Amino acid sequence: MKKIYFITGSQDLYGDETLKQVAIDSKEVVQFLDEKISTVDIVWQPTVRNSEEAEDCLIKASADKDCIAVITWMHTFSPAKMWIKGLQRLTKPLLHLHTQYNRELPYSSIDMDFMNLNQSAHGDREFGFICTRLGIKRKVVAGYYKNEKVIKRISNFVDVALAMDFSHNLKVATFGFNMRDVAVTDGDRVESEIRYGWNVNYYGIGDLVTLVNKVTDAEVKEKLDEYNAKYQMNTDNLDAVKEQAKYEIALEKFLSEKKIGAFTDTFEDLHGLNQLPGLAVQNLMSKNYGFGPEGDYKTSALMAVLCKMSENREGATAFLEDYTYDLTEGEELELASHMLEVSPVFAKNQPKIEVHPLGIGGKSAPARLVFDGIEGKGIAVSMVDMGTHFRLICADVELVKQPKEMPKLPVARVMWKILPEFSNGAERWIYAGGAHHAVVSTALTKEDIELFAHLTNTELVIID
Ligand code: MN
Repeated sequence: MKKIYFITGSQDLYGDETLKQVAIDSKEVVQFLDEKISTVDIVWQPTVRNSEEAEDCLIKASADKDCIAVITWMHTFSPAKMWIKGLQRLTKPLLHLHTQYNRELPYSSIDMDFMNLNQSAHGDREFGFICTRLGIKRKVVAGYYKNEKVIKRISNFVDVALAMDFSHNLKVATFGFNMRDVAVTDGDRVESEIRYGWNVNYYGIGDLVTLVNKVTDAEVKEKLDEYNAKYQMNTDNLDAVKEQAKYEIALEKFLSEKKIGAFTDTFEDLHGLNQLPGLAVQNLMSKNYGFGPEGDYKTSALMAVLCKMSENREGATAFLEDYTYDLTEGEELELASHMLEVSPVFAKNQPKIEVHPLGIGGKSAPARLVFDGIEGKGIAVSMVDMGTHFRLICADVELVKQPKEMPKLPVARVMWKILPEFSNGAERWIYAGGAHHAVVSTALTKEDIELFAHLTNTELVIID
């Protein structure tokens, strides 16, 4: 399990007795939080008393590959010049927990010893100043550490920190390149690695086709068993389904062997494949592989990162594509279905496997999952390349039930309401340059995206 270093700041001025008590108290705080937050090990560090210890501890945290973040707390006053060199060496996300050991003041017994020992109101402001002066990107959470709200906010920070660690190590495969002439899905792959850690590389579709051709009958049978267990087989064209099974088996082998967590394809480069990967991609998305169609590596990588961020929460997270509207005044809705590639995490009912022709691409009729979408509040997140920097756009959306059946549209049908209302929401999205591809999540909130944008120093436009 990944770790978070919990570092308590103090100084030598108070003497051994006080420092002993600081250590006892901070261990208790750490033990409590570690029990409450199960997604990571929160590891107590010896109290930091001076510049050398601060620097050593923060270098150690930065160099430890299992350490995804640091929590700091100033139990007493800790003169903040002692934190400068350490903070300059810190490369991990920082949560500054502004709390104290005692919940209430012991009004009848409070004396100067108590004041000496419990002065985070004093010490955490000193620490906060130097973080702000140094321009340290961080999260500050203030409140008693046993409050449910405080624990929840720390836990949300942990989710974002886990996602940032994942992002740092994420490899992305693009089968083929960006769809010809499309602007918004393109981007600076070097900057993507510098800023987010995404190692984005091109592979020829032939590399995948070689693996597709090696898939055995036994492997196909096993994959069909998986499909039958999860989905309803609503077609007689089993050959088309087997074809998708082969694609998925080959993709899984390719990606897992190279430790790749996200991928793209493009219907303009499918040489050697008879169908556009549909069912194969849908089933892989439900396993948290990032996906972007038409060579959209940014959406693919962002999806994988946001799936990681939401993996310990209720709700659905995956790529969706803006398609067509119902513009009935005051009740405007959007249908996000795309050709095929909608993740079954958005399914309201058990998805059906069906085989139908595609209108474009000139390939055989692909097997795909057909279903109606879930309902609920969520966010849509888009990443675009402005030339000088990346921009994230995050909008509130509400997934809704389709008002009428769509019997002639055999794809996944996810519908949503643009918030706060159609014109306002859609116009601001368009002004911001938001793409027609987004990662939609009912598990994450805009606070998560705000923190991710802040910690990665990414411009963010919020539409709410
Ligand atoms: Mn598209």
